[in-house]
Amino acid sequence: MAEKKSDGQKLEEKLLMRSANIGEADGSLLGEAKDFCEEYKKFLCNKTEREILDYALPILKKKGYKEFQIGKKYSPGSKFYMNNRDKALIMVTVGKRPIADGLRVGVSHTDSPRLDFKPNPLFEDTDMAYFKTHYYGGIKKYQWAAIPLSLHGVIMLAEGKTIKVNIGEEEGDPVFCVTDLLPHLAMNQMKKPATEIIEGEQLNILVGCWPFKDEKISGKVKLNIMNILFEKYGVTEKDFLTAELCAVPAFRPIDVGLDRSMIGAYGQDDSACAFANFMAEIECKGPEFTTITIFADKEETGSDGNTGMRSFFFRDFLEDFVSAYGLQVRHVLRRSVCLSCDVNAAIDPAFGDVFERSNCSFLNRGPVVSKYTGSRGKYSTNDASAETMSFLRKILDDAKVPWQVGELGKVDIGGGGTIAADISVHNLDTVDMGVPVLSMHSPFEITSKTDVYLLYKAISAFYSSKIEKK
Ligand code: MN
Ligand code: MN
Repeated sequence: MAEKKSDGQKLEEKLLMRSANIGEADGSLLGEAKDFCEEYKKFLCNKTEREILDYALPILKKKGYKEFQIGKKYSPGSKFYMNNRDKALIMVTVGKRPIADGLRVGVSHTDSPRLDFKPNPLFEDTDMAYFKTHYYGGIKKYQWAAIPLSLHGVIMLAEGKTIKVNIGEEEGDPVFCVTDLLPHLAMNQMKKPATEIIEGEQLNILVGCWPFKDEKISGKVKLNIMNILFEKYGVTEKDFLTAELCAVPAFRPIDVGLDRSMIGAYGQDDSACAFANFMAEIECKGPEFTTITIFADKEETGSDGNTGMRSFFFRDFLEDFVSAYGLQVRHVLRRSVCLSCDVNAAIDPAFGDVFERSNCSFLNRGPVVSKYTGSRGKYSTNDASAETMSFLRKILDDAKVPWQVGELGKVDIGGGGTIAADISVHNLDTVDMGVPVLSMHSPFEITSKTDVYLLYKAISAFYSSKIEKK
């Protein structure tokens, strides 16, 4: 027989908030999450915004999504997409309610911190050939030395042909690396601040050391590398000027832990959310309100450029879409709600002093809703209103999706932003929700499978909800 609850216990249950590891309440969830995350691991093999589009587009077509047509009046249940320059993507499922009643928008970003090639990257030094890089996004530079790297991107040849590059991901491919100094000679290096242990100009990628045999030339190793590239792709050195290439960690997404409850992979910021967002979108059938799912580029460098969320492409697309119904974008947007789906930092006991335990996110407690991000007195943030938080709370609680709240670390210890601030300028209610991550922005980020799965459940609940915005 169950023990009778004391008055205090009853009161505690009624009045106090309790956040706990999800496994305590529902042991079966991990099994479902593991199944869900098998496809997530495949998604993670796509390591750049372009590759994620290459993954997504065939699936969209298979699921009945058509390319967006300007001026077309879509009927409820229609699905379509708009590809912005092979780097950003808008996916839509038309709802039963009139467009004028507002949209349910989910945005995530598909770019991750990495080493971009400089425009003129190839050089030779001391009989070794390297690619020069300029890092992209917020990285701890020392983490990128002495790990296997793969090369990704596109090269446009003089005659206009585009070559897709992906070397170092397949079994049997060579990999590349940035070298580090042996500890025996690192006495001075180890005294440097972490920002200078490996400096930006030392992030050169080793690509070869074998010479082209000809006594009459200098730079024999460089020439040999260029010759290999020419034979394989028809590329000459000048073609690097018309390329977008980068190096990323060559690790494969992999289960972490004896319980296999976690995933370790590069790019989980923000692929964890992009995948959950994508699955919720493609599986959304006959929603009440029209759903719009966006994959945005350039978040890691401030959302600038015409594929970033500060670009007008979202607004322009909406104008083309809603004008077919005789509507003004601004009237639709002010009745819309947006989930800015981005990761947050999970508390890490090894660095517990930077987190404030009652307002940070924990692994395995479900999606983390961040009322605001930013830093130093809430600068540079979208601060979701009580009304918006209440709207989302009702959706999640009705759908019985466990969730938590989280601030990015202690006050004044650092901070960071998301797309939320850039999207809320369009006058739609916006709130951040995502997956807690350990070792964020490192070459090997860790998430809990259950959190990724529950984020998908949460976004699905948001997309299918009939709840009206006040
Ligand atoms: Mn992010
Ligand atoms: Mn990030």
